[in-house]
Amino acid sequence: MTIIWFRLDLRLADNPALAAAAQRGDVLPVFIWAPNEEGDWPPGAASRAWLRQSLRALDASLRERGSRLIVRRGPSLDALQQLVRETGADAVFWNRRYEPALRERDAKVQQALIAGGLRVETFNSALLFEPWEIKTKTGGSYRVFTPFYRACQVAGGPRSVVAEVDLRTRRSASLRSLNVDELNLPASLHPSWEPGEAGAQRQLAKFAKQARHYAARRDRPDIAGTSRLSPHLHFGEVSPWAVWRAVTTECFRRQLVWREFAHHLLWHFPATTDEPLRPEFARLAWRRAPKELRAWQRGETGFSMVDAGMRELLATGWMHNRARMVVGSFLVKDLLLPWQEGARWFWEKLVDADLANNTLGWQWVGGCGADAAPFFRIFNPSAQSEKFDPDGAYATRWVPVALKPMLDHNTARQRALAAFKAVRKYG
Ligand SMILES: Cc1cc2nc3c(=O)[nH]c(=O)nc-3n(C[C@H](O)[C@H](O)[C@H](O)COP(=O)(O)OP(=O)(O)OC[C@H]3O[C@@H](n4cnc5c(N)ncnc54)[C@H](O)[C@@H]3O)c2cc1C
Repeated sequence: MTIIWFRLDLRLADNPALAAAAQRGDVLPVFIWAPNEEGDWPPGAASRAWLRQSLRALDASLRERGSRLIVRRGPSLDALQQLVRETGADAVFWNRRYEPALRERDAKVQQALIAGGLRVETFNSALLFEPWEIKTKTGGSYRVFTPFYRACQVAGGPRSVVAEVDLRTRRSASLRSLNVDELNLPASLHPSWEPGEAGAQRQLAKFAKQARHYAARRDRPDIAGTSRLSPHLHFGEVSPWAVWRAVTTECFRRQLVWREFAHHLLWHFPATTDEPLRPEFARLAWRRAPKELRAWQRGETGFSMVDAGMRELLATGWMHNRARMVVGSFLVKDLLLPWQEGARWFWEKLVDADLANNTLGWQWVGGCGADAAPFFRIFNPSAQSEKFDPDGAYATRWVPVALKPMLDHNTARQRALAAFKAVRKYG
């Protein structure tokens, strides 16, 4: 029997570890709740709420196929070894994760299981390419997106789909399993979301029909023009190759490659979750202003695009990409507060919180990452509203009563530029 250890691959279709396990014979599907193994970045509240429903959906799909999900608490290694003792399983298969703390954890688990005589195999289910597969001509890593994108295009077309598996799980009937509700994950999730594989497929099919308008609409937060697949992709409810195949629009595929780039950077520069990739930015004279941070978090800055974005996040667990860039710029440049504060808040509130994408996003707005927006290019939040929310529909949807601006943008801009110049001067 093979244990299939589900992690961020909460789907049955096109799941390489599951398919390989099923080929060997009986399969034992397992999920282990061990947030304290995720280092400084255990899943935030919104992710936990999503996970709860996604696990229930996975269990339901397994039951439809005569199987079920065995849910245990960590430590992961102990839980796996216990399951091996209970079932006599001779192998453990899983799909890889790329977060620094989990890379380390997985290496230790793998070593211990192999030392115990088990067969361990790991697979790629989450990415188009492994982060180490795309290399510069000299064998190094990329720091600029466009050449990375070109290298991905050269690297080859879509992998073929992993065949649908026929699950056999004869011996799991008597095994102890926690009910997903016993994990005490939050129940509140905006009703517009449908976590789980079926929800991901529905969202993909819906988006594929309107993907031809993506390029024209993707920058408009007042229009539902993007795919909203980010939480589904994060939790592995749909494979990136399946999305790639379903949507041929070039501009959309480019965004999928940004996701690849984010994982490439996280793999090669794991410290960037907390530290700027460009080290001189560690010296930037950030302010400490808890009340202003709170106003930003609550969407009470008085700038309509910023407040709409932050309130959309609080209400739904998601925010449009254009708004993410605008609220990020406002925090880092207008308020001169550290980008890490923004990354933490997003981590807690986003249903698609993803260590690779969030780190890339915040280093980008902070001007301190790979291929980032230069620090001196400072968004004017009012001009952004006029351009990308021309009728004010996004603003009025989330901020029915406008507030008085908490600062003067031009003064704040000069303050940010002065702080940036000081960094350059002594760099
Ligand atoms: C400050 C900041 C923080 C961010 N934090 C996250 C995060 O925690 N999780 C997350 O998934 N995305 C994050 N993003 C990237 C982007 O905003 C979201 O992926 C996107 O808004 C999700 O909506 P969608 O699925 O409709 O995207 P679409 O426009 O439909 O794009 C399709 C998919 O491509 C990927 N993608 C799109 N844009 C990016 C990007 N800039 N970087 C990496 N992948 C991208 C996502 O997986 C997305 O689902 C962040 C961006 C910024 C500026």
